Amino acid sequence: MTTKQSTIRFFNTLTRQKETFTPISQGEVRMYTCGPTVYDYAHIGNFRAFLFEDLLKRWLKFRGFKVTHVMNLTDVDDKTIKGSQTQHIPLKRYTDFYAKAFFEDAATLNIEPADYYPRATEHVQEMVTLIQTLIQKGYAYKGEDNSIYYAINKFPNYGKLSKIQIQQLKTGARVKTDEYAKEEAQDFALWKAWTPEDGEVYWETELGKGRPGWHIECSAMSMRYLGETFDIHCGGVDNIFPHHENEIAQSEAATGKRFVNYWLHNEHLLVEGKRMAKRYGNYYTLRDLLAKGCAPKAIRYLLLSTHYRQQFNFTFEGLEAAKSAVERLANLMRRLRDVNGESIGEKLTQLISQVEKCFSEAMDDDLNVNVAFASLFDFVRDVNNLIDANKLSKAEAEQVYSLLAGFDKVLGVIGEVEAEVLALEASLLISARDEARKAKDWKTADELRQKLKAMGIIVEDTAQVVRWRREKP
Ligand SMILES: [Zn+2]
Repeated sequence: MTTKQSTIRFFNTLTRQKETFTPISQGEVRMYTCGPTVYDYAHIGNFRAFLFEDLLKRWLKFRGFKVTHVMNLTDVDDKTIKGSQTQHIPLKRYTDFYAKAFFEDAATLNIEPADYYPRATEHVQEMVTLIQTLIQKGYAYKGEDNSIYYAINKFPNYGKLSKIQIQQLKTGARVKTDEYAKEEAQDFALWKAWTPEDGEVYWETELGKGRPGWHIECSAMSMRYLGETFDIHCGGVDNIFPHHENEIAQSEAATGKRFVNYWLHNEHLLVEGKRMAKRYGNYYTLRDLLAKGCAPKAIRYLLLSTHYRQQFNFTFEGLEAAKSAVERLANLMRRLRDVNGESIGEKLTQLISQVEKCFSEAMDDDLNVNVAFASLFDFVRDVNNLIDANKLSKAEAEQVYSLLAGFDKVLGVIGEVEAEVLALEASLLISARDEARKAKDWKTADELRQKLKAMGIIVEDTAQVVRWRREKP
């Protein structure tokens, strides 16, 4: 497929409209996605965001862009400090544990790694420099508690992302916590002066003894790796205010330039129709689902398969359906390896160009996965029908196989098919069983089938060949 970059459109939270995507440098995309706060295992709501971002990145790459992706790790903030104190261990030991868990979980879900994973604690100097610039330019001031605050009434565009109105605000009202609600919009902390509750966590800097606020972390780290203006910034809708609003205020006041061109936000995840919360008993980390025996590929598929701007309702029923959808794809891949029928010719070319067109147009349209997946499964059904009718040649099967492998570069849900090789023992049993069948020794053939089943391998006899597949757990 050729690069048709002008056809990609994204819904930009900044303008509340779909816009044609035009990168700053032709053929290149620089994107920043707010990463995990490493104070706990990431939950499936977090992974919905990370998977949407993975799909976005994979689609841009599929369309021929070179993507530079930065995802930060928030390893110092109100939550991480509180967590480390509760466990009576140093902050670094506490956050290293959850950072490692995050990388393991991301790999389990087949999320492509970012190019950079900057940690907040390793970029405090950049944050201090940025805050100094804001003080010099008159956007920041020291409060009576010695913390440094951002004066939101000095930045006329404050509210442009979240569309909040701030006229009614009392000047000088201040908030020191990292997270707060829209109705509490007020001057927020850039640098938090040390208090005894911070314990061992502080830096001695030109701004005094203290630590950075959460919002300044992302401004400093994104601009450090991607420049003062970059293409795409993502996060969940709950990041729009105050986090991303504050990032814009900090960055644009400091540089005088536009910070980000396209803001993309994914909607919330519900579980069984309700907001996910520990107190509702419907709170799941990835590890909780794996412990219940759920397959990572099915979880990935499920969390990807609803458009990112729609609320998504996670159910175990949905997870079962996702599991069959993934199996349908993987099974077709396996069937294609054994195909050796008559050629269907022109008809296949038509089917292929149709699915390529539908899939690409849908994905270009703000990652419309609902339509993209529907066209893919129509194609899967049609190809299965052709195989059933023995109307697909070996060369045509190879063509379909590489097409599906190409789609899977975007979806990442089939993956292991090529790596799936038979252990020698199983392979010998399959041959022995085949011999027994040819000799019409049904008893031995059946015994061998049972033996293979015990190894988790299902054999199926078709007219042409014996096929096998792994039994799903
Ligand atoms: Zn962030």
